[in-house]
Amino acid sequence: MITAEEIRRTAKQYDCFYLYEEKVILDRIGALVREFPYTHFLYSMKANDNQAVTAAILRHGFGADCASPVEVQRAELYGVPREQIHYSAPGKTDRSIRETLNQCILIADSVNEVAKISRIAEEMGQRALIGLRIDPDYNYNEEDGNALPTKFGIEYSQVKEHISDWLKDPNLDLIGIHIHMHSQELYWPRLAAYQDAVLQVADELIEEYDFPMSFINIGSGVGIAYGRKDEPCDIEALGGSLTQKWRAFSQRHPDIQLFMETGRFITGKAGLYVTKVIDRKVSRGKTFLILAGTMNGFIRPVLARAFTKFAGGYSDTPMEPLFTKTDAFPLWCVSGDGRTIEERETVTMAGNLCTSADIIAEDIEFRKLLPGDLVVIRNAGAYASVVSPVQFSALPRPAQIMIREDDQRALLEEKEKYASRV
Ligand SMILES: *Cc1c(COP(=O)(O)O)cnc(C)c1O
Repeated sequence: MITAEEIRRTAKQYDCFYLYEEKVILDRIGALVREFPYTHFLYSMKANDNQAVTAAILRHGFGADCASPVEVQRAELYGVPREQIHYSAPGKTDRSIRETLNQCILIADSVNEVAKISRIAEEMGQRALIGLRIDPDYNYNEEDGNALPTKFGIEYSQVKEHISDWLKDPNLDLIGIHIHMHSQELYWPRLAAYQDAVLQVADELIEEYDFPMSFINIGSGVGIAYGRKDEPCDIEALGGSLTQKWRAFSQRHPDIQLFMETGRFITGKAGLYVTKVIDRKVSRGKTFLILAGTMNGFIRPVLARAFTKFAGGYSDTPMEPLFTKTDAFPLWCVSGDGRTIEERETVTMAGNLCTSADIIAEDIEFRKLLPGDLVVIRNAGAYASVVSPVQFSALPRPAQIMIREDDQRALLEEKEKYASRV
């Protein structure tokens, strides 16, 4: 657990910052490895690209689920072998295919994209290692319902139409499939049913089309408890169900590797965001706290409030990874000077950007904070710094600090990260 003292100490140096806890990351990795013994994991690098966080995960034998050439290059730099780097995203450009063709398994996202990869491989005089992202005839939310349109993957009927040609293409080594339909699921039976559907697709492609499959990437889905009423996903039950199915499946098809992706499950609970009270003011009877770096440092609490407000007071319709639910980001506080804060008040918390949209809480009951005190937001380890508009107004970026398992602090201001992105 990160202590108030730790937070206070860091706040002497920074006005807003993320604190990550390696111990939480390692505990979550341990739980996955224990419950899914036949599964190889791919870390979804877009969830948190901090170097200390990424290194802590990839050091433990995880492969990488990448969504861009830069992520592929980073995974390679961390020493991840090519067959464990899956590059899956819609709309890959010629350039992004050319840059990554020799470094990863390209997961083709459309019929056009398969042709594009084949053409580029031929131009480069290489064979491309590819998988197919398949959009199965499966309705994730209603098992009996019809499959719905989506921008992701190749519709299953189109896969069946083209697969024999793709398997014969001299420029392609088609070796696996990827199916990912849903994130932030807490109800394990729904994930288990979906995993069944994935294995059925695999079975059918192998049996009916002689697909020489060497991997199945079963996607992600396991969520985390954000709100107070959320029950954590029962990964023991899900792991038991998948293990049983996989044993039967791999008796029929012994040489296939099973991959599972995960981003938020390992990082989401491992991060806190801290922002300092810079000013206090009263406007026509309403008390405002002005905080350092809210919308620009960690946008999701601002979005949670905005979605809720414009949905008429409450919203539970997720739009991952920007909005999960109304109460996803509980606020907590730490005094800057170590005093105990007893007094309470009704307050509105706003950020220091020049826009009235920058509000994380309006007219809430909270402890009475003064300039120098700190507001702490939990669940800030995934889709937090990476989705926030840190360039807005050229204000300082939040620092990102990892508290290591051995309690040594690794400070990563991540200047080089920006350099490598340009
Ligand atoms: C973002 C993403 C993930 C990670 O999702 P989490 O909810 O963070 O586990 C996995 N697979 C794909 C294809 C993704 O786009």
